[in-house]
Parts: sequence; C-alpha cells; structure tokens
Amino acid sequence: MSTFLLEIVTPERIVYAKDVNMVIVKGAAGELGILANHIPLVTPLKIAPVTVKRDNAMDFIAVNGGFIEVRKDKVVILAESAELPEDIDVDRAELARQRAEQRISGGGGEIDVKRAEAALHRALNRLDVKQRVRA
Ligand code: ATP
Repeated sequence: MSTFLLEIVTPERIVYAKDVNMVIVKGAAGELGILANHIPLVTPLKIAPVTVKRDNAMDFIAVNGGFIEVRKDKVVILAESAELPEDIDVDRAELARQRAEQRISGGGGEIDVKRAEAALHRALNRLDVKQRVRA
C-alpha cells in the first residue's frame, strides 16, 4: 500500500513525522480519511483523536483543533496543541476536565463558558486517546 509523509506540528514542536498509509481526522464537515495521492485541500479540524494506519500499526494522537493541509508531497496537521498517548498526563487531564465542568455548571459569562467548553473538549480528547491505546 502506498505511503505518504504525515507531520503533526504545534507552535512548540514536531509531535509526529512518519510515513503512513492512511490518516483519519474529524474535519468541520465530518470524518475524513486521507490516502496517498489525495487531492490537495485545507480544512479545519475539530478537537478529536487523529487515527493513523501504517504497516501493521495504528497510532492515535490527541489533536486539539487546528487545520489539516493535504499537499502533493505530504500531509501536515497544524494544531495549537497535540500529544502522543505516552506524553499525556492523565491526572492533569482529569483535573482540567473537573475544572471545566465546574466552570460550565457555575455559569458565568458567555465567553468563560465557551472557553471552559473548549478546555473540556481538550481534556476529554486526551483521556479518549489514552483510553484507545489501553483498549
Ligand atoms: P491545562 O489546563 O491542564 O493546562 P489545557 O487544555 O489548557 O490544559 P493547552 O493550552 O491545550 O492545555 O496546552 C498547553 C500545553 O500543555 C501544550 O504543550 C499541551 O501539549 C500540554 N498539555 C496540556 N494538557 C496536557 C496533559 N494532560 N498531558 C500532557 N500535556 C498536556
């Protein structure tokens, strides 16, 4: 099966760079599976796990929003933050989840609630990815 280079990049670092067979992302318009030689595109991503298939392995990466850019030579995911399962601190994500839920149930301003909802999504995304590699 053909491969292509997938890079997952944040402002801080290159989180992932491997030759892969397929990447599955949650785009704004729904789930998107990208194979080699896909037509070029740029689309925003939801806060969700990214699934990668390569050889006999599957990788899961917590990607917290951003964009996917399919180029002729490679596929690049640009995100504010992204983590490999082994880099995810479960206790930290659990605390972030609790904090966000308290903020949401406590009401407050519309902007605060929106911010807390995004933080909740990030925390749940991290916990989800950690769960997937354990399963
Ligand atoms: P927190 O409230 O715990 O800081 P957050 O969702 O606000 O979480 P981000 O702003 O998305 O955090 O990320 C800031 C930095 O911290 C990024 O480098 C991100 O990869 C890292 N990070 C955030 N949460 C975790 C976690 N649970 N495990 C490992 N790294 C994390």
